[in-house]
Amino acid sequence: MKLFLFSEKPPPLPPQPASSLPSAKERALGAYLGFALGDALGAPVEFMLPSEIRATHNGRLDQMCGGGWLRLKPGQVTDDTQMCLALGGAMLASGGWELRAVADAFVAWLRSRPIDVGNTCRRGIRRYLQTGILQAEEMREDAGNGALMRNLPVVLGTPDGEAGDAEFARRSVAQARITHGHVLSDAATLALGRMTRVLLAGGGRAACREIADELAARFPAFVFDPWPGRVSGYVADTLQTVFDVFFHGASFEECLVEAINRGGDADTIGALTGQLAGAFWGVSALPERWLRKLDTRIHNEIIAQTNALLSLKTL
Ligand SMILES: [Mg+2]
Repeated sequence: MKLFLFSEKPPPLPPQPASSLPSAKERALGAYLGFALGDALGAPVEFMLPSEIRATHNGRLDQMCGGGWLRLKPGQVTDDTQMCLALGGAMLASGGWELRAVADAFVAWLRSRPIDVGNTCRRGIRRYLQTGILQAEEMREDAGNGALMRNLPVVLGTPDGEAGDAEFARRSVAQARITHGHVLSDAATLALGRMTRVLLAGGGRAACREIADELAARFPAFVFDPWPGRVSGYVADTLQTVFDVFFHGASFEECLVEAINRGGDADTIGALTGQLAGAFWGVSALPERWLRKLDTRIHNEIIAQTNALLSLKTL
């Protein structure tokens, strides 16, 4: 695996060759399966330092290894993918959008005793359960990435075009606020979602870079060039790392391996990197050796849900 030096100026972003451009459906499948691959690859090294990952994984982790603090099976996903599937399932059950159905799906997920739950997500879901209130109180601190990490189904299942853009923003913020009442969480969720929408429509990394630059201009916490080197679950740290990896990587595999080997919130950073890289390069770029190990039930559910969500776009 070629290492790329992140202190260097980014190379120009090459366009994809026209002959191999993936279809919209291949991009959508690439995004969702890429997300799950990043979750499953990164979770075993969540909370580790890069030096610990090097020492434990023979220099660099590039396999579905399982283990980690959650003692996972190789290819097992965590709350990131599970919350996406819960949100996507709620959209399908309600034939488009019903915020209470989304909140109820999060409750059902929490009651299924998931392997991992973020603190802010748990608090928000419990508040909904106890009060029926769909919106978290505004938070001063604690802008975690829990709302950002589960927004992909909204990207996949909301119509395109200008009216679709407004609906996408309304749905994204509404689902985010069930648990995260923070302006930076909203901004991150919208920016990453818009980048993914651009990629699904066949746009390139230059168009994504414009969205990332706009976000950083509005909220300096997101300035990502040069990469500040933080990999926590704080939305700004998470997105800075995802942007840095996605804008520099030469392939889907290179992006994901680089993302998870930075450690920290490696599953969510891996998943969101996989979302962008999968939408850009398409499902055929996802390494077969990783897909084979991915939890079969999750793999099948993602394929079925992606197809069904895409059909919601045109309703
Ligand atoms: Mg996780």
